Amino acid sequence: MQIPVIIRRCAKALLLAIALHPIIAARGLAADAAALEAALATVTAGELKEHAGFLADDTLEGRAAGSRGGRAAAHYLALRLKEAALQGAGDRGGYQQPFSPGYVNVLGKIAGADPELKDECIVVGAHYDHVGYGSRQNSNGPIGYIHNGADDNASGVAAVLEMIDALGRTHWRPRRTILFAFWDGEEINLLGSRHWVRQPTVPLSSVRLAVNADMVGRMTKGRLEIEGTRTALGLRKLLSSERLPADMWLDFTWEYQENSDHWPFFEAGIPSLLIHTGLHQDYHRPSDDLEKLNIAGLRQATAYTLEAVCKAADADALPSFRPAARSETAYTRSQREAPLGPTPPRLGLRWDWSAGQAEGDEPYAVVTSLTPGGAAEQAGVRVGDRIVAVDGAALEVETLLPAAVLRARGEVTLRIVRGSDEPQDLAVPLAGRPVELGLSWREDAAAPGAAYVTRVVPYSPAARAGLAVYDRMYAVNGEPFADGRALMARVESLLEAGAESIQLEIESFGHIKSVDVDLRLPSGGNADATL
Ligand SMILES: [Zn+2]
Repeated sequence: MQIPVIIRRCAKALLLAIALHPIIAARGLAADAAALEAALATVTAGELKEHAGFLADDTLEGRAAGSRGGRAAAHYLALRLKEAALQGAGDRGGYQQPFSPGYVNVLGKIAGADPELKDECIVVGAHYDHVGYGSRQNSNGPIGYIHNGADDNASGVAAVLEMIDALGRTHWRPRRTILFAFWDGEEINLLGSRHWVRQPTVPLSSVRLAVNADMVGRMTKGRLEIEGTRTALGLRKLLSSERLPADMWLDFTWEYQENSDHWPFFEAGIPSLLIHTGLHQDYHRPSDDLEKLNIAGLRQATAYTLEAVCKAADADALPSFRPAARSETAYTRSQREAPLGPTPPRLGLRWDWSAGQAEGDEPYAVVTSLTPGGAAEQAGVRVGDRIVAVDGAALEVETLLPAAVLRARGEVTLRIVRGSDEPQDLAVPLAGRPVELGLSWREDAAAPGAAYVTRVVPYSPAARAGLAVYDRMYAVNGEPFADGRALMARVESLLEAGAESIQLEIESFGHIKSVDVDLRLPSGGNADATL
């Protein structure tokens, strides 16, 4: 990954089973979980480390474009492509695309098998050059020492090599063609990828998606950044996964800059992604070395990217470029995706819940404060009162009171004990409208058929089901919806029909999962809030 211009100028076995199973080949790997799982299993930490170790070794002297070390890296890559029996995708059917002054892109491809889709192409790339001994223009110092660029970008190259290897061990043929590209000159203003986009070795119009792996070796806290999902409609869903490891998450940031090889594709109007694990203190320093890599994280990033590429290569249709992405930034996001504030309290009191002092004592909620002029105060509730039942139901669980208040139509009856007085029932007319599901959402121009959560009402069914702000919803009871209005109509009809639960297909930070939202009154939660 190159230093942004603005700053300085301003860088082997299972597969036999698969081979014997033509149906799998015909249906495509992504459609066959077992086969995909098997291919993913061939992605190993050991092989990733081997590739990265070779590229980030002092002998390659930091792989400056056109240098001896750079040429050695290019040679290594061409050998790997040959070994994997990929078709040449360089000049004249070879693996190399030389370009002046003395640089070379290394390219190979797996031809698509689907008669309709084989002429469409997915470009999967990573730059193999780095900054050599460093200079004032491209190093964060100290200069004059070998910058091995283990993360930048031996990690990305190793990931792409391992993807080629995993696919090479299957007899699976993608429906679309996959072109693997190792770019040179990325550290010199993206020279290699810019050159290819100007002089593509397959028709540029056939390129439906570009995937760029740059600095994927320093995963922290399981975070993998996927930039560029807004460069086409619905890419985020395509890139989300049901099989992400629990300790990994995808950050679909709106950050998107001219800082790596995804950019020339974007400029050419092609949906283009950057896969990245983030910058760090060794970035463009001699200290960006192999031992600093998170190899387990690199393996996860590689397996994820392989799955995403397989899904894209086999998708019935791929979305086209979305020009609006050109004007969207992280700031736009903060404006558009800003969550909604809390709903106004319906009852207007705070309480502490207790399961009861002694054995046999009934549980209660003691009122700790009242909202001035709130429904509870107006109905005569006082601080210190013990609420022992709501609408005739004992407070067996601590969240029953808030949940019952949320969904009540019009009023609730609270049974309260004041001091040593006899229990008394208080009818409390509630403020606001009933909350039955407890979700607010908004549509996203870049994601038709999805709605993202802008508010989850505490203690609501949605909150108890674990839904959170920014989660994305894609289907209700297994049925997709066209837009936010259709979603609303669907939910309302289910509520009116008295549904006891609703199943939502959601995506949360890249994890696609199905969530059952129980609409009935609850059984568990925590202690202190405003209703
Ligand atoms: Zn770089």
